[in-house]
Amino acid sequence: MAAPSPPLTGILVIEDDEVIGRHLETGLRGGGYACTWCRTGVSGVTEVARTEPDVVLLDLGLPDSDGVDIARRLRADHPSLLIVILTARSDEIDVIAGLDAGADDYLVKPFSLSVLLARLRAHLRRRPPVAASQEGPVRVGDLTIDTMARRCLLGGQEVTLRPKEFEVLALLARHVGAALSRETLMAQVWDENWFGPTKTLDVTIASLRRRLNESAAAGRAGVRPPEITTLRGHGYRLEHGGSSPEPGFQPPR
Ligand code: CA
Repeated sequence: MAAPSPPLTGILVIEDDEVIGRHLETGLRGGGYACTWCRTGVSGVTEVARTEPDVVLLDLGLPDSDGVDIARRLRADHPSLLIVILTARSDEIDVIAGLDAGADDYLVKPFSLSVLLARLRAHLRRRPPVAASQEGPVRVGDLTIDTMARRCLLGGQEVTLRPKEFEVLALLARHVGAALSRETLMAQVWDENWFGPTKTLDVTIASLRRRLNESAAAGRAGVRPPEITTLRGHGYRLEHGGSSPEPGFQPPR
């Protein structure tokens, strides 16, 4: 039976192992999460600051940094972030250090994806709803999406969107920079039990791009809509994009 879809949970995987990283990315997306994957500690920290995921899955043995240090940094900067350590070291001392550094939980490799998904569900059930913060206006470059007021503004000008166009754009904007699979978009915007052709999604995206471009062309000079990138065989991603004026652009005096 259909329940209201919860806001899409964003998960960042920080893992240098190609096989494990790929496995997690595929599995988490299949589990309905918005997943991004970084292969180093430094890029992971940057990505967390940029995209504010709900969960970080953190490998302890990273090529550029010690995962325990990364956990400590993430905890200091993001108090409500759920941090789950993934460790090949089953040594008790590493697990203790990780938890002391601020991680919420740990899994010892090799672990089962079903167990990981079950642990995530258990953690996320206990967390306070994040809906309130996600309902606030989201800004991406010149674009502002306000789901509470149900308004889309580009360079301060109202853009009229159809309901599904609005919902797709709002979902992409809440997960700016993250790849959202066709299945995730369809399930979240159309029907949580949806499966089948996704032509309607392409039509909606094409129409959305057209409306944003038309609105930008009609608005004040220099306003640009953020780009919706097509990811062949996967889905779509809203790019961070630049707001006007461009870096280095000197406004006329
Ligand atoms: Ca590793």
